[in-house]
Amino acid sequence: MVKETTFYDCLGVPATATEAQLKTAYKKGALKYHPDKNADNPEAAEKFKELSHAYETLSDPQKRQIYDQYGEEGLEGGAGGPGMNAEDIFSQFFGGGGGGFGGMFGGGMRDTGPKKARTIHHVHKVNLEDIYRGKVSKLALQKSVICSGCDGRGGKEGAVKECSGCNGSGMKTMMRQMGPMIQRFQTVCPDCNGEGEIIRDKDRCKKCNGKKTIVERKVLHVHVDKGVRDGHKIEFRGEGDQMPGVLPGDVVFEIEQKPHPRFQRKGDDLFFQAKIDLLTALGGGAVHVEHLDDRWLTVNIAPGEVITPDAIKVIPGQGMPSFRHHDHGNLYIKFEVEFPKKDQLQNLELLEKVLPPRMEQTQPPADAMVEDFELHDIDGSEPSQARAHGAAGGMDEDDDDVPPGAERVQCASQ
Ligand SMILES: [Zn+2]
Ligand SMILES: [Zn+2]
Repeated sequence: MVKETTFYDCLGVPATATEAQLKTAYKKGALKYHPDKNADNPEAAEKFKELSHAYETLSDPQKRQIYDQYGEEGLEGGAGGPGMNAEDIFSQFFGGGGGGFGGMFGGGMRDTGPKKARTIHHVHKVNLEDIYRGKVSKLALQKSVICSGCDGRGGKEGAVKECSGCNGSGMKTMMRQMGPMIQRFQTVCPDCNGEGEIIRDKDRCKKCNGKKTIVERKVLHVHVDKGVRDGHKIEFRGEGDQMPGVLPGDVVFEIEQKPHPRFQRKGDDLFFQAKIDLLTALGGGAVHVEHLDDRWLTVNIAPGEVITPDAIKVIPGQGMPSFRHHDHGNLYIKFEVEFPKKDQLQNLELLEKVLPPRMEQTQPPADAMVEDFELHDIDGSEPSQARAHGAAGGMDEDDDDVPPGAERVQCASQ
């Protein structure tokens, strides 16, 4: 139980939210309420601060624990030091020294180190066969590249002028009367839309229409190495978006292993479920396993090996190749033993020759009263004891004696 949920409510997540859910919620909210996008809405700026504060607290396991236990009050007792500035949290979250928002919306971010265009993330789903053998996937992506028509200037040489409305900063300080108060606030410069510069229409680059970049299709060769683990990241530095004046972004592919119809993978080991009949389990036989590289493994069960239901056996070295080293894990086989149906048995008396004798059962004392019974199948047509009790029986009648309100009061006072 948590003491209060204000921070969770602010992010719109339950108190049981995982780290990933918190991240997603913050990301969504922060992009929506960022002051750069809400210059004329002071309420959004407040909301942005609240969101950042809530996320900063809940994303830190130590602070989250204190908050859950004591509420916001507990945090003000000095735990974890002073809170971070909302913009700092934002740029930390979106990474790359403030490149994220600045790149996307053209300005407004503080300068903290070399700027870099945003990272392109992509989940690459791969089947187990490909991970077993390794392969190279050719993946196409759309990315922004510097326009070759204008070398990223946006127009003819000399056609691009610094915006006089904001002196090239892209931001403008505005004033607004709110009742008796005058409020000053920063907003994206309306003359240049935050670009910081103005290009005359007739000098605008025809190829990129003054945008300085164009979208291009690029094919990357992604090496899915043998034995790669689910969640592994493959990075292409500088292969992401290009923008004038900033470092090109990265592209990151995350490997996601698709579920397999026959095998389950745990680390470098494979698990296979085999169904055999009782005769094979006792008298021996073979199971055929289609492996991940077109091979078939014939697994021989020796007569008298006795495979019990749910028994797990291992074939060493037939699991997945390990990442980088390529030595193989094990293949574990779990057996499901199917017993024969009633009418499939003949010459039952022969079993007495094959199987060990019946085990000793507790015998009734010589003077006990003994009655004979036979077993019946449970087929649902006769109501069982349990069912007669649960439904429509005595329970409801008890409830009728107590008015609905009275019962609640009773509970509360106990
Ligand atoms: Zn151009
Ligand atoms: Zn301007």
